[in-house]
Amino acid sequence: MIESPLLKHMSGYIGGKWVDADSGDTFAVMNPANGKELAQVPRMGEAETRRAIAAAKGALQMRPDREVCREWLEDIAQALIDEKTEVGRILCLEHGKPWKEAEGEAAYAAGFFSNCAKNIDALAPHKLDERPRDCKWTTHYRPIGVSGLITPWNFPIGMIAKKLAPALAAGCPVVIKPASETPLTMIALFTLIHERLELPEGMVNLVMGSASEIGGALCDSPDVPMLSFTGSTEVGINLIENTASQVKKLALELGGNAPFIVFEDADLDAAADNLIANKFRGSGQTCVCANRIYAHADVADAFVEKVVSRVKSMNVGDGMDEKTDMGPLINKAGFNKVRDHLKDALDHGAQLEAGKHPDDLDAEDGLFFPPTVISGVTHEMACTREETFGPLVPVVRFDRDEQAIEFGNKTEFGLAAYVFTKNKERAREVIANLRFGHVGLNTGTGPTPEAPFGGMKLSGIGREGGTEGLFEYVEAQTVPRSKN
Ligand code: NAP
Repeated sequence: MIESPLLKHMSGYIGGKWVDADSGDTFAVMNPANGKELAQVPRMGEAETRRAIAAAKGALQMRPDREVCREWLEDIAQALIDEKTEVGRILCLEHGKPWKEAEGEAAYAAGFFSNCAKNIDALAPHKLDERPRDCKWTTHYRPIGVSGLITPWNFPIGMIAKKLAPALAAGCPVVIKPASETPLTMIALFTLIHERLELPEGMVNLVMGSASEIGGALCDSPDVPMLSFTGSTEVGINLIENTASQVKKLALELGGNAPFIVFEDADLDAAADNLIANKFRGSGQTCVCANRIYAHADVADAFVEKVVSRVKSMNVGDGMDEKTDMGPLINKAGFNKVRDHLKDALDHGAQLEAGKHPDDLDAEDGLFFPPTVISGVTHEMACTREETFGPLVPVVRFDRDEQAIEFGNKTEFGLAAYVFTKNKERAREVIANLRFGHVGLNTGTGPTPEAPFGGMKLSGIGREGGTEGLFEYVEAQTVPRSKN
C-alpha cells in the first residue's frame, strides 16, 4: 500500500472536512506497473455529491476579491512546485508514467495556477470609451457559480489545474470528480490546499466513486450552472444531452485523432525526434498524441527507418525505475484496444516494422505494450479512424499537399495536428486548411498554460489555458448607466 505525507487521509473532501462515503464503501486503486493495490478510497455517490454542491453554494456567498483569488492561485502554484517530486511519485504509482515525466506534469500544473494569477486582472470590469444611448457602459465579469469539474486519468494533476485555476480566479466554488483509476494525485492536491491555504469552507470539494451517480447529481442540480469535463467524446455527448433542459454552460475537452504530417522537404531527424517525444508521452495515452502519421511517398521509407531506430532504443518498464522511457498502459481494456488496432492493421495488409506481433501480446502478462511501428497503413484500418490511445505508430503515405490536407481532416475530431515542412508558404496553406484547435509546425509539442487549447468538431467546446481559458468561469454582465 502507498504511504505518503500527502496521503494522510484517503478520503473525499466536503465543506472543508475530510469525509468518507456514507455507506462506508471503498474501491481499490491499482498500480498498473505491477497490478498491486495502492489504496482503498471512498466510493461516494449521489448523496455526497448533493452535500458537496450545497457546501459549494454556501461558499459562493463569500465573493472573494481578485487579490484574494490571486493569492490562492499563487499559493497552490508554489505548493505544487515545492512538492512536485512527491506529487510526481504518487502520480507515477497510480498512472504508470515515468516519475520524471510525472514530476514534469506537476510543474506543468503549477503553471496554470501561476498563469491565471498573472493574468487575473483581465477579469476586472471595463468601461466603454463610447457613450451609446447616452449612457456610460461598464462590463463586469461575474463568477458563473458552482462548477462541476470532471477529469480523466491520463493527466491526473494537469487536467484539474486547467479547470481549477480559472474557476478560482473567477471566485467559483467547485465540486471535483477525478477518474477512478487516479484519485490519489487529487487527494494529494487537496492535502496541499487543506494544509497551506485558508479557503472558505466549501470552496473546493472532492467526491470520487460512481461516475453515473456523481455525474448525474451534477447534471441535475440547478445550483451547478457550469460543468467542465475532460474525457471521451461519448461521455461528453451524454453530458450535453443530460444538461440541455437547464441550458448549463459546458466546457468539453474530448477525444482526438491527431495527424502528424511529414512533407518531403522536412528535416526528417527533427520530425522523428518530435514524433518520439509526442507519441510515447504517457505511453501514447494523451489526447494530443499523434494517432496517424502521414509521410510523403518520397521520404516515407527513410522516415520509418529513423523512427524505428529510435524506438528500438526505448526502455519500457516500471515508471519508478529511472531508466524507464515509457511505462505500462492504464488497464487491460486500454491494452486490448491497442492490440486490436495492431491486429486489424496487420490483417488488412500493414507491415510490422517494430514491436511484437499481436499474438505475442497478452494483458495477462502485464500492461507493458512495446512501442510499435507499422507501415503500409490505409484508411480502411481502425487505427486511422479511432483514437488508439497507446504506443502504436501507423504510417500512411501521401503524394500531394491537397491529399495531406484531405487525409489530415479525415476525422470527426479536431484537437491537435502536426505539420513538418521547411516551406513557409506550404505551411501557411496547410495549417489554414486543417480543422484542429492546435497545430504544431515543426514541433510535436502539446499545450502550455500561456496559450489557449481546445478542440474543434467532436473534440469539444471551449478553451483551457491562455487568457481565453480565464473567461470560461465568468459571465459578462453589462451595465449601461444613464446620466440622470
Ligand atoms: P472517460 O471514460 O470519458 O472518463 C473521464 C471522466 O469522466 C472520469 O472521471 C470518469 O469517471 C468520468 N465519467 C465517466 N462516465 C461518466 C458519466 N456518465 N457522467 C459523468 N462523468 C463520467 O474518459 P477516459 O477514458 O478517462 O479518458 C480518455 C479520453 O479522454 C480520450 O478520449 C482522450 O482523448 C480524452 N482526453 C481529452 C483531452 C482534451 O484535452 N481534449 C485530454 C485528456 C483526455 P470514472 O473514471 O469513474 O469512470
